[in-house]
Amino acid sequence: MNVPLLDLKAQYATIREEIRDAIEEVLASQHFILGPKVTGLEQQIAEYSGAGYTVGVASGSDALLLALMALDVGPGDEVITTPYSFFATASAVSRLGATPVFVDIQPRTYNIDPKKIEEKITERTRAILPVHLFGQMADMDPIVEVAKRHGLKVVEDAAQSIGATYKGKKAGTIGELGCFSFFPSKNLGGYGDGGMVVTNDEQIAERIRVLRVHGSKPKYYHQVVGINSRLDALQAAVLSTKLSYLEGWSAARRRNAAFYDAAFSDVNVETPYIEPFNVSIYNQYVLRVACRDDLMAHLKNQEIGCEIYYPVPLHLQACYQHLGYREGDFPESERAARKTLALPVYPELTEMQQEYVVSHIKAFVSGEASL
Ligand SMILES: *Cc1c(COP(=O)(O)O)cnc(C)c1O
Repeated sequence: MNVPLLDLKAQYATIREEIRDAIEEVLASQHFILGPKVTGLEQQIAEYSGAGYTVGVASGSDALLLALMALDVGPGDEVITTPYSFFATASAVSRLGATPVFVDIQPRTYNIDPKKIEEKITERTRAILPVHLFGQMADMDPIVEVAKRHGLKVVEDAAQSIGATYKGKKAGTIGELGCFSFFPSKNLGGYGDGGMVVTNDEQIAERIRVLRVHGSKPKYYHQVVGINSRLDALQAAVLSTKLSYLEGWSAARRRNAAFYDAAFSDVNVETPYIEPFNVSIYNQYVLRVACRDDLMAHLKNQEIGCEIYYPVPLHLQACYQHLGYREGDFPESERAARKTLALPVYPELTEMQQEYVVSHIKAFVSGEASL
C-alpha cells in the first residue's frame, strides 16, 4: 500500500467541478491581479478568522515581510523568534536588515518558550514573532504580557495554523498582526503561492495595502518604497471555494490524529501534546522517536510518506553563521530536529491507510521489523 504524506489529488477529486467553475469565472473576466475575487476572499477570511482587516499578498513569506515592514522594522532592530520553524520566519527579519534573535522552544509543543523571551530583550528589540507550529498556537498570554511590558509588537506566524484557537481566540488575531500562507501543503492551500496579513488595526492594514503595490497611493505616486506582492485572482477563486471546506478538513485531521494517539498509546513513541486550552488544526502530526532516521528509512521502504520538519534549526543554518550561534545553544530545538518525524494526517486518509502506517511503526519500534 502506498500512503503519501499528503494527497492533494484525493482532495481535488472531491471539489473538481466547483474549482473549475471558479477558475473559469476568473478566465472569463480576465481580471488577474487583486480585484473582486481577492476582495471577496479578504472578506471571507476576515469573517472566518475574526480579524478586522485582511490583506491578500503573494505568499506567506511576503505576509511576514510586509507585516514587519508595516511596523518599520529595519537595520539595527532585533526581532525575537523561534529557531525551530520554516526558514521564512527568520528570513523576513533578515531581509529588512534586522537581526533574528532566537529563543528555544518548549519540548512538548515545539513552540517558543515564553519564559525564555524576557532575557533576550534589549534596547534594539522591536517585536516578538512567535510561530504556531504544526497547527497548534504558541502560549500567547505570557508572550503578549512580556511584549506589552516592554513596548514591543507581536506578529504571529500563523502560516501553519489558520483556524486554530488559543483559549477560544483564533490564530492571527491576538498579536498586532497575523500572517497566513496559502502554500499548497497548508490546511487552506491554493494552487500556487499566496498569503494574507490580518490585523485589527485599520492604519496598519492600510499601510500594508500600500506596501503591497510598491508603496503607491494613488497609482504612480509613491509615499514609501514598497514591494510587488499581490494575491492572484485565480488563487483567490480557488481559496474562496476551498474555505467552505476548511473546518471539515481540519476536523478530519483531528480525527486522524486521535486515531494515531489511541493506536500509539502503548507504543514507545511520543505523540503530539496539545495544550488543553488549544485546538490544533494538525497541519502536521509529529512523532518524537528514538531511532528517527532508521524509522524514516523503514517507512519509506514500505511506501509510507513521512518527513522531517525541520532537520536543521535556524540558528545552525549556514547563512546565519555570522550571528554567532553554536550547537548546544538551543538544546530543545536541536533535539526536536534530531528526533521528530511527521506522519500522513491529511483529511482524506482512510482508516485502512492509517492502520497500515500504525502497524509498520509498531513492528519497527518493537524491534520486529528490520531494514
Ligand atoms: C509555509 C510557511 C511560511 C511561508 O509561507 P509561504 O507561503 O511558503 O511563503 C512561513 N512560516 C511558516 C511557519 C510556514 O510553515
